[in-house]
Amino acid sequence: MTGKELWYVSQAHANGHLAGDGIFTRKCNAWLESRIGCKKALLTHSCTAALEMAAILAQIQPGDEVIMPSYTFVSTANAFALRGGVPVFVDVRPDTININEALIEAAITPKTRAIVAVHYAGVSCEMDTIMAIAEKHQLLVIEDAAQGIMSTYKGRPLGSIGHFAALSFHETKNIISGEGGALLVNDPRFVEQAEIIREKGTNRSLFFRGQVDKYTWVELGSSYLPSELIAAFLWAQMEEADAITRCRLNIWNAYHESLGEVEIHSKIRRPVIPTDCGHNAHMYYLLLPDLAARTAFIDSLRQKKIQTVFHYVPLDSSPMGEKYGRKSGELKQTQMMSERLVRLPLWLGVEEYQNDIIREIIAEL
Ligand SMILES: *Cc1c(COP(=O)(O)O)cnc(C)c1O
Repeated sequence: MTGKELWYVSQAHANGHLAGDGIFTRKCNAWLESRIGCKKALLTHSCTAALEMAAILAQIQPGDEVIMPSYTFVSTANAFALRGGVPVFVDVRPDTININEALIEAAITPKTRAIVAVHYAGVSCEMDTIMAIAEKHQLLVIEDAAQGIMSTYKGRPLGSIGHFAALSFHETKNIISGEGGALLVNDPRFVEQAEIIREKGTNRSLFFRGQVDKYTWVELGSSYLPSELIAAFLWAQMEEADAITRCRLNIWNAYHESLGEVEIHSKIRRPVIPTDCGHNAHMYYLLLPDLAARTAFIDSLRQKKIQTVFHYVPLDSSPMGEKYGRKSGELKQTQMMSERLVRLPLWLGVEEYQNDIIREIIAEL
C-alpha cells in the first residue's frame, strides 16, 4: 500500500458513483494512455478479462491457432481456448525465458491468427522480430504484459507495441488493486469495438458521448469493467508507480549484485536482461542446477522461514493443454525452466530482511 488508497476509495464512496467508468476509472485510463502511449486504455476486472477481450477482438473461431509460450500462466491460453482456438506452444529462449522468436515461423500454419508475446518477469520479448513475422504472415500480436507495466523495449513502453496488450493489477503484480487489469488497444481499427465488448456488447459508450441516440445490443460481449472502488484504489498506486518501481529495482539490484559471486562459483544462474530491455523488477529468480537441487533449496530456506516459490507447470503438459493445445517442436528449455527456476522474496518492505535473506541464500548455495 502507498498511503492514499483508502482516501480515494472514500472519495468514490462520497461521489456516489460506484459502478464502472466514473472519475477514477477515467483517471486511470488517461494515465495508462499517457504513460504507455497506447491508442486506448480500458480498465478491466483482471488481465484474464483483458485477454478474453483480445480473443473476441481477434475474432478467434473454432480451430484457429494462436502461438504462445508453454511457460506462462493459464490465462494466456484459456482466453483463446474459450473461443475454440488452439494454443500452439513454442519453446522459450534460454536467456530471458520468453518465447523464442526464432521458433515462431516454424509453428505458423494457414490456421494461425495471432501470436501472444508474454513478457516474463517484466523483461520484453524480442518485439521487432515478432512484429515483423506478424506483418509478413498477417497475424495479430497480443502482448501479455501482466508482469510488464513500466518496462520498456528499445525505449518503448511494453503494452504499446502489439495490436493489443493486457495488463494485470492483481496483488502479486507491481501496481495493484487486489484484482484488476487493463486492455490496451494500439490499432485504431479496434477501439470502438473494444468499448462495445467491455460494455456487455452494447454501444453504451457511444450513447454517452452522444454519437448514437439509443443504446442496444450490437456485438457479442460481456461485463469486463471494474467498479469505481477498484479504480479509486488503483489510482493511488498509479500516482506512486515511479516510486514503487524505483524501490523494486533497488531490491532487485541488491539480489543481483550480492549473488554475482555465487554465480561464478556454482551452477546457479541469475536473470539475464538484454541491453534493449528496461525492466520493472517484477521478479527476481535463480536457476538452480536441477529439480533435486531446487527442491532441497526451497525446503532448506523454508526451515529458516524464508518463502521461495517455483512456477509454472508447462501448459503443454497440463490436462487442458494436452486436450486443447498442440506443441510445436520439442519444448526442452520450457521443461528445464519449470524444474530449475525459483523466485526469491520481492515485495515492498522486504528491504528490512533482505540482508539476512541474502546471507542464508549464499550459505545454502
Ligand atoms: C498474473 C498473470 C495473468 C493473469 O492476471 P489476472 O489479473 O490475475 O487475471 C496473465 N498472464 C500472466 C503472464 C500473468 O503473470
